[in-house]
Amino acid sequence: MDKDKLYQKCVSYLKMLCEEIPERSVGSRGNRRATRFFENELSSLGWQTEMTELEVMDWESGGATLRVADQSFKVLASPYSLGCSVQAPLISVSSLGELERQEITGKILLLHGELAKEQLMPKNFVFYNPEEHQQVIALLEQKQPAAIISATGRNAALAGGVYPFPLIEDGDFDIPSVYTTEEEGRNLLSCIGKSAFLESRSTRIPAKAYNIIARKRKDRRQRIVVTAHIDAKKGTPGAIDNATGVAILLLLAELLAEYNGDRIVEIVAFNGEDYYAVPGQMDYIRKNQEHFENIMLNINIDGAGYKEGKTAFSFFDIPQAMKATCDDLLAKFDGITEGIQWPQGDHSIFVQHGCPAMAVSSQWFLEHMDSQEITHTAKDNLEIVDCRKVVEIAEALNWFIRMSNTPD
Ligand SMILES: [Zn+2]
Repeated sequence: MDKDKLYQKCVSYLKMLCEEIPERSVGSRGNRRATRFFENELSSLGWQTEMTELEVMDWESGGATLRVADQSFKVLASPYSLGCSVQAPLISVSSLGELERQEITGKILLLHGELAKEQLMPKNFVFYNPEEHQQVIALLEQKQPAAIISATGRNAALAGGVYPFPLIEDGDFDIPSVYTTEEEGRNLLSCIGKSAFLESRSTRIPAKAYNIIARKRKDRRQRIVVTAHIDAKKGTPGAIDNATGVAILLLLAELLAEYNGDRIVEIVAFNGEDYYAVPGQMDYIRKNQEHFENIMLNINIDGAGYKEGKTAFSFFDIPQAMKATCDDLLAKFDGITEGIQWPQGDHSIFVQHGCPAMAVSSQWFLEHMDSQEITHTAKDNLEIVDCRKVVEIAEALNWFIRMSNTPD
């Protein structure tokens, strides 16, 4: 297929994913529309598809109100939190030691400073969960404050461009919580000990979501697994994160429509990378527990196609026999360069299970990971995408998969 046609297809896929479908957060209607669209496209290209149903939780904010004496403070409901309506004394804690010592049961607890410097990993997030986060969560659950207010700063590396960021974003954590800026947190510190009223109209909505897995054949022999997460953070169009990844899977599916090689190619739209419980990834791991040794390579696309800079291919534990093909790829495609080792993506699931992996992203994002203010905000829209880069990645992966198909 010629470049022009691929380019046109790319534009229409991205419009569908980022504009016609208003949001793709896990559990939303848009998310189900996106997975249905993806499944339809792949099956019409002759791929055998499988939709795995996932029980998930959607969420609606509904807004939140905080008052101390006759003063109002601006707070936002933490995503996936339960709602509340409580009147209780306000107390504050800024370190793990204070959290251990203070009597907080039944009170409205302000978390700030050191303790609120980075988002706490969700309880059931198994891939990365620092000891200190687990201790904070365990102490909170044990001591049961009536509700939590967190005052957070900026943390691009972990929260993207979001400010303030929710310290807690976890549908498995049942103490109601809201969050606010550092400045508002400082204002609140002058009210410690007073009686506060907090109402959050946040609600959890049980919902369904789907992983889509497409294969050329059904058996489980040696396969190349190409993945991209199809969900987006709530309230963002998720163009670079990760509609471009999904568009690349769709273009690749078309380029490989007549593929008849001896490796099985599996194309997976994961549902949950930007969601507290990573349900699609957990389901995939469960189902493949005994089969990771058959995965000769994972190629994961996340954050690709940014208008500035080159595409970065990062290589993880690539076997000797595949190295030359990787080098040839870098030499053959002008817009692609080798990227650094970075862990925050679904390729890590495969690396942790002993599989070689390739992570495809944008060099600019890898270089500005600690300072960029785009990820998980409204700025992540189609204006920052270069479709020529998206097409080049699809062509490079098509070339690579066909090249790797020679017997060892
Ligand atoms: Zn992502």
